[in-house]
Amino acid sequence: MRLLVVEDDPDLNRQLVSALGDAGYVVDSATDGEEGHFLGDTEPYDAVILDIGLPVMDGVSVLENWRREGRKMPVLILTARDRWSDKVAGFDAGADDYVSKPFHMEEVLARVRALLRRSAGHATSELSCGPLMLDTKSARVTIEGQQIKLTSLEFRLLSYLMHHQDRVVSRTELVEHLYDQDFDRDSNTIEVFVGRLRKKLSVDVLKTVRGLGYCISEPDDTA
Ligand code: CA
Repeated sequence: MRLLVVEDDPDLNRQLVSALGDAGYVVDSATDGEEGHFLGDTEPYDAVILDIGLPVMDGVSVLENWRREGRKMPVLILTARDRWSDKVAGFDAGADDYVSKPFHMEEVLARVRALLRRSAGHATSELSCGPLMLDTKSARVTIEGQQIKLTSLEFRLLSYLMHHQDRVVSRTELVEHLYDQDFDRDSNTIEVFVGRLRKKLSVDVLKTVRGLGYCISEPDDTA
């Protein structure tokens, strides 16, 4: 899952990027509204954390522009505690949720998890597929209750596919959602990671759809 943080306070920006990175997301960041708007308009993010008070272009305008341009990714806005009018303007502009400053990082992480799973149509924090279960809260992956150890990239790969269960995801889409903008992307390496992940999962849930990509779906009964 790839996220964008738009926050002009350098310390807060760093804290958000580091906490979200530790939680297993790939994170790009911007420190003003114009740069943030550009990134959100040109890169495919799974969710955005957007400060309302931003230099160059304010957060509400950034969000309005994205929505007008048809960008549908979930957006969590950061507002000043006493500015109820920011929340109203933010929701009217197309925000999905908000957190007031100062906030506890755990709350931001929980709200981001909720936005990601809701936008993918899941009601709980545990995503399952047959015997395979991924807990988005603890970042634990189990098969029939037995925990499986994954590298951070394998986890990101599995998490993206599990959020989009039963849909064929292309290699290009995976590359766009598993790496940040500065990464030297090579869609051939995805195949290698899929191979390793499939071996670790040991059950037949990760399928290759020839010429199209990959899909997580329940094991075939006939297999
Ligand atoms: Ca600000």
